[in-house]
Amino acid sequence: MFRQMLIRCPKLGGEVSFAYCEEEGGPLPCARMIQCWSWRIPAVERYLRLKLTEEEWERCFGQAPKEKMAALVELIDSARKRCEPGE
Ligand code: SF4
Repeated sequence: MFRQMLIRCPKLGGEVSFAYCEEEGGPLPCARMIQCWSWRIPAVERYLRLKLTEEEWERCFGQAPKEKMAALVELIDSARKRCEPGE
């Protein structure tokens, strides 16, 4: 069964199952689940859309791009500070 399939988790550094990723956020899946699993299970997004309510989907995946953008801005800021003269 696909819920027992394993992949290497980029966050934890070890192997985790699909079932773990589905509940990584408590009642919600991990926000990276589509990125992590779509190469092994191409229908993962469709599966999650059927499983989650629209509100759960938004809570889980609607915030991911914002977090990604905030992390990117932080990286750019720290790189800029390192490159400023006198720093
Ligand atoms: S979906 Fe989340 S918990 Fe699962 S492998 Fe990816 S980062 Fe790790």
